[in-house]
Amino acid sequence: MSDGYVRLIPTDREWQPTLEHAAAATAYVTQLFSRPEDDVEEVEHEFYDQVTLIDAGENTTRISCSNCDGDIDVQWLNDLVEENGESIGSLDVSVPCCGSVVALDSLRYDWPIGFARFEVSVMNPVRAKYELDAQELDAVAALLGHPVAQILAHY
Ligand SMILES: [Zn+2]
Repeated sequence: MSDGYVRLIPTDREWQPTLEHAAAATAYVTQLFSRPEDDVEEVEHEFYDQVTLIDAGENTTRISCSNCDGDIDVQWLNDLVEENGESIGSLDVSVPCCGSVVALDSLRYDWPIGFARFEVSVMNPVRAKYELDAQELDAVAALLGHPVAQILAHY
């Protein structure tokens, strides 16, 4: 069985909030998803030393090359993450299709992924809506002090 995640990240990949703002944003998100009768879901925040790939897991089914337009097997990305950890966001990589060296974020993904040094993640969100709506994203941004994007992932 796969787990669903909502991963909230600053739109600027280098930006990090203060610990205080991170805690406030995380508390707000927790309250959005909290169900008193059931606490399976987990909300946590994480700071990364380096720009980190915020991947979408199984939601990504297609990657194509920014250089040659060729298809890249999704398994290639999974292997890359497995070998290097997720702190590969700022790395230039050698792609299998044409062998050119390109930035990981220049490749085209069929499902939004992100790059960030901070995230708030929600595991197995259980409520009517999976995603945060625009108003909720604005509220998170206000608490965090920076606009945010959400990456929806399955593992
Ligand atoms: Zn290529």
